[in-house]
Amino acid sequence: MTHGAREYRCRPMTLNAPRLRFAPSPSGFLHIGGARTALFCWLLARRHGGSFILRVEDTDQARTTDASIQAILDGLSWLGLDWDEGPGVGGDHGPYFQSERKAIYQEYVGKLIESGHAYRCYCTRDQLDAKRAAAQAAGRKATYDGTCRSLDPAAWDDDEPFVWRLRVPLEGDTIVRDLVRGNIRFPNAELGDMVIVRSNGDPLYNFVVVIDDATMKVSHVVRGDDHLSNTPKQILIYEALGLEPPTFAHLPLILGEDKKRLSKRHGATNVMQYSDEGYLPDAMVNFLARLGWSHGDQELFARDELVSLFSLESVGKAAGVWNPSKLLWTNHQWMMRTPSDQLAALIAPRIEAAGHPDCTPDAEMVWRIDTLKERSKTLVELVDQGTFYWAAADGIAYEPKATRKFLSATTLPVLQASAAALQGLREWTEEAIETALAAVIAELEVGVGKVAQPLRVAVTGTRVSPGIWLTLAALGRDKTLARLAAAIEIAGTPRE
Ligand code: GLU
Repeated sequence: MTHGAREYRCRPMTLNAPRLRFAPSPSGFLHIGGARTALFCWLLARRHGGSFILRVEDTDQARTTDASIQAILDGLSWLGLDWDEGPGVGGDHGPYFQSERKAIYQEYVGKLIESGHAYRCYCTRDQLDAKRAAAQAAGRKATYDGTCRSLDPAAWDDDEPFVWRLRVPLEGDTIVRDLVRGNIRFPNAELGDMVIVRSNGDPLYNFVVVIDDATMKVSHVVRGDDHLSNTPKQILIYEALGLEPPTFAHLPLILGEDKKRLSKRHGATNVMQYSDEGYLPDAMVNFLARLGWSHGDQELFARDELVSLFSLESVGKAAGVWNPSKLLWTNHQWMMRTPSDQLAALIAPRIEAAGHPDCTPDAEMVWRIDTLKERSKTLVELVDQGTFYWAAADGIAYEPKATRKFLSATTLPVLQASAAALQGLREWTEEAIETALAAVIAELEVGVGKVAQPLRVAVTGTRVSPGIWLTLAALGRDKTLARLAAAIEIAGTPRE
């Protein structure tokens, strides 16, 4: 083992088929921060013709449930981040699960024992606690004091409980060469002889991560800044095994607008919550990409544009700020850019779930979406604002105030004349409707608003809709005429 500042080559990002991995610990859902890490890894793999590996870190069996694993898979699928390989066969591959790889870990523990890099430590918990307290009292770092480091293996007692520790160089530094953070130096003396296998035989986290990354031939470990303190320990394990460490890149944290660590106070941290709230995956991908990465002052990026532009060189050290209004703005931009037939496929199940009968994603729905999408910032808004389209002819609710004002004895003649003019139409197009109603406006000698607003309330129950001629056209003849008839009924019914 060498002492002093150990160097290893940092493979630059002129990548030739890099291998990246996303290694979530299933904690219940795919967190925004995890999703951003996954996206960056996926983008690098896709940009450079590499592989994106998904590895579920489920060694903490108590916290891992099928639902928590599924939640991660659902989040990645929603974002469109597909992974490339895994233990399955054919198309049914991956992800890797740490819980299925115990034999591999044992094999590598064996190598470290054989080479003398791992030694048994018989110190009891009480002894360790006392040492730690003494170190703290003396103002020293509470690293292991090496009591068992020089025990003669011949004296190892199989009947006493022990852990395996890594024999870490006593001097020198371990340098993390990080593509985002630059070189960071960690004195080995402060790292200490870390435990790699518990007394029950279970290998520890930092050890299994190294074995996984090494055996999966991961070339670039891209992960959150919160793992930076693990990295020198992991590098020491690579070195003890005679393996070349991968290149590291630690991504800056995501903070709320108050510069505090992102938490529920700043909005949902579960990616799928945004799916529920009607955000588009393309918008979320766009927004996540901008959390720490930039390309000039451009804000909107299509997925393939991100694939062709993304690089770690443009990831800054500064934290990304979670800005919900910017996310909403980004989503609105993507609502307008997404072809309406794709939006139709996305909202059809939501329309059905809301109990409306017109939930088939057909040409008519596409047309209706065309009339609405400029004004809908989310899919939820789109469904909501189009309620009058999707509802049955007699299924709309009338706003009381608008109804009093616009469906009354005063507007009755306008409603009747409009109904008569529309009934006679042979062609149901925006132009034909506009021409027919222009004639009504001329005949009654009223302003456009005097016809448009009662009609709008008649067919939508509200005062807000896209342009009225277009609304009637997209609503269709049957619903328009049925609702006009109902409105005439309401307007003609005397009120006290
Ligand atoms: N399983 C870790 C987590 O979910 C990530 C480990 C790593 O990327 O090395 O935070």
